[in-house]
Amino acid sequence: LFPDRTFPMAQKLIAPNGRKITLQTGLFINNEWVDAIEGGFIESINPTDETVITSVQAATEADVDIAVKRAQAALKHPSWADLHPSTRGSLLRRLSDLVEEHSVDLATLEAWDSGKPYSVALHEDVAEVTTCLRYFAGFADKASGEFIDSGALKLAYTIREPFGVCGQIIPWNYPLMMAAWKLGPALACGNTVILKPSELTPLSILYFAGLTKAAGFPPGVINILNGYGHQAGGAIARHPDIQKIAFTGSTSTGREIMKMAASNLKAITLETGGKSPLLVFNDADLQQAVKWAHTGIMSNQGQICSGTSRILVERSIYEPFIDAFKTFTEETSKVGDPFTETTFQGPQISKKQHDRILAYINSGVKEGARLVLGGSSCSVNNGKGFFIEPTIFCDVSRNMEIYQNEIFGPVVVIQPFETEDDAVEKANDSPYGLASAIFSQDITRCHRLARKIESGTVWINSSNDSDSLTPFGGMKQSGIGRELGRAGMEAYSVIKSVHVNLGAKL
Ligand code: NAD
Repeated sequence: LFPDRTFPMAQKLIAPNGRKITLQTGLFINNEWVDAIEGGFIESINPTDETVITSVQAATEADVDIAVKRAQAALKHPSWADLHPSTRGSLLRRLSDLVEEHSVDLATLEAWDSGKPYSVALHEDVAEVTTCLRYFAGFADKASGEFIDSGALKLAYTIREPFGVCGQIIPWNYPLMMAAWKLGPALACGNTVILKPSELTPLSILYFAGLTKAAGFPPGVINILNGYGHQAGGAIARHPDIQKIAFTGSTSTGREIMKMAASNLKAITLETGGKSPLLVFNDADLQQAVKWAHTGIMSNQGQICSGTSRILVERSIYEPFIDAFKTFTEETSKVGDPFTETTFQGPQISKKQHDRILAYINSGVKEGARLVLGGSSCSVNNGKGFFIEPTIFCDVSRNMEIYQNEIFGPVVVIQPFETEDDAVEKANDSPYGLASAIFSQDITRCHRLARKIESGTVWINSSNDSDSLTPFGGMKQSGIGRELGRAGMEAYSVIKSVHVNLGAKL
């Protein structure tokens, strides 16, 4: 991990689409590019052909400590502390404009490093980054406290203040988008930030870091440190001078982070796993249900925390749904190179994830589920790359691993239900509660079920629809707290109560 070597911080890269990109690969602390103290590095692997794209520096505890000190200093420095809230909003808006201006480079790095189709990276991920930053820019000067009517002899009111230094640990499935979801509200509220991307996708965020400096954020406000989970991630989660931690990733890591964050009682938001149900009733628009169900699990290579990976279909339309879903998936899920325009599905993020998904598929076959489509890795690049066929299982039962566990790949299980009550019982039969979808033309039933299903988000006649305006987060073991929307903003400030004596004498 710590070889005796140095490498140039700025790397000149030529992407598969011919784009020439100069990328800083150091740690971004206090608006400067610095070397990792212990000299660790991360090799970024292209999941499409398994080549090394480049190496970036990896932070350890000592680097995190320095970054926290700079973030603490920035918190008190007049260039940030005394900034008018509207000016904080302007900085976020400028950052959003720069992201738009540099969207081709950002999307190129995102697709190259993560394997998601370039057009998706450009038109969905990077586009969402700009809208999200703009949304929170608009919020920066709209935080307000409360006036509390306390009678003639007392005035009381509340102020919303930033927490201080916030630690943010993000995953590899939507690297830039997850950064925007977390940075937007934290900065709008006046916090300072230490953000750690996933070691599997360290590149696009480095380019983004340069844009934050160009946008005019003062030194120390945004610090971006690549690093491994157990090193840099653990150091952030444990650090006594970090006041709030926000994490997106697996439930098991979320649990570890919560334990570490308990050391100084950090405020915490966790976005963890899911096994989200999608219910199709026999009065649904079948073709719409098929299309949304496909988007809900097969987009982003199935690597979606809120992916609707369990489809529950009313018995009378069970077989017709399976036939239509299979046909649509065969026609739509073109597996291939992320830079080929017709590609719907690129490679999985890593060999480890690829093998893990295949192991789940094999267990499904062994446990007796009916394999309707796919079931193998696929060779689209002379055997190189972590590609998996879109895979559909039906006739699953609740004791099967593929029914219980989050697979995080292009694999879906389909199961019939008999009645509305049976549908609700099956939908709630999971330790997770991130999202759910209901397809029916009966609007009364849809709203009735929206209350009964245990999930943080319910989609009625759609799936995986998300926008910055609407809160997102989980129930049960899918997380704590909310991101996005007003709730996402409120999660980055603390309420202070002020009591003013207007003349009461003791
Ligand atoms: P992970 O939870 O291990 O990693 C997510 C982030 O946490 C990364 O930045 C990682 O470096 C960091 N991390 C890991 N261990 C840490 C620790 N001990 N302390 C602090 N930070 C730590 O996820 P993964 O291993 O990359 O993926 C495994 C599974 O997680 C997937 O198969 C999937 O089920 C789930 N996942 C969920 C989401 C989501 O959006 N909910 C995203 C990615 C992965």
